[in-house]
Amino acid sequence: MPNRRRIEAAPRRGPNSRMNDLSVKPAPAVTLFGVNLSLGRGAARVHILKDIALNIGRGEAVGLVGPSGSGKSTLLMVMAGLERPDTGTVLVAGQDIGRLDEDALARFRGRQVGIVFQSFHLIPTMTALENVAVPLELAGAADAFARAERELAGVGLGERLAHYPAQLSGGEQQRVALARALAPHPAILVADEPTGNLDEATGSEIVDLMFAGRAARNTTLILVTHDANLAARCDRVVRMRSGRVEPAAPAKVIA
Ligand code: ADP
Ligand code: MG
Repeated sequence: MPNRRRIEAAPRRGPNSRMNDLSVKPAPAVTLFGVNLSLGRGAARVHILKDIALNIGRGEAVGLVGPSGSGKSTLLMVMAGLERPDTGTVLVAGQDIGRLDEDALARFRGRQVGIVFQSFHLIPTMTALENVAVPLELAGAADAFARAERELAGVGLGERLAHYPAQLSGGEQQRVALARALAPHPAILVADEPTGNLDEATGSEIVDLMFAGRAARNTTLILVTHDANLAARCDRVVRMRSGRVEPAAPAKVIA
């Protein structure tokens, strides 16, 4: 992409500008009801999500737990607008995302949904800076590169801007992915086992950064994890089993 210029922003909104508007009661960050999803063809077709109903408040941190194959990743993809359910309604930041066509949904995701995967999913041919800046640019930010630089500095990678993913450690790659996910100030951040490929110390650094980034922006966090300590850091734990959300357990108790 030629002729990238660094443009410092014209007046930026303060970090709390959204929260200062008290005139309307905020809608929940995520609402699902009657959500069913089957994937696969013919005999291989699997009913993965079964009558999911869920409400997640603005700024809430939810730990999504459950056995392997219970549908956690699929539910996260539905909330992120990357998978459309067969039935039911998915509202994210007040928007019924089922009503959006593919282009509008992609734009919505770019602005409102941050995603962190277990395996980082950086673009290998782009530097750390480009991995963060290009999605911002696509979302229409005029000052994408300056913002990306700040976001990377915020996760401790101010000295790694020109590095390619292959030149970064796993923990560093996940920090880039986190900076990329948080940079647009999305309404929701979904993370699918974000520490699953990292050693314990590196994973806990990522988790600290994720919670700090979330607190700074009042982002709603939905986190799939097998780590009981990590789940316990969330405001609430939602447990899945065989494609269903289990009835609410006492707060912060995970068996
Ligand atoms: P979890 O993240 O809890 O381990 P997943 O959401 O990845 O669970 O998967 C739930 C179930 O759906 C599993 O049984 C899995 O094999 C099945 N599944 C996932 N993706 C597909 C697909 N594209 N086609 C068919 N079955 C799938
Ligand atoms: Mg999974």
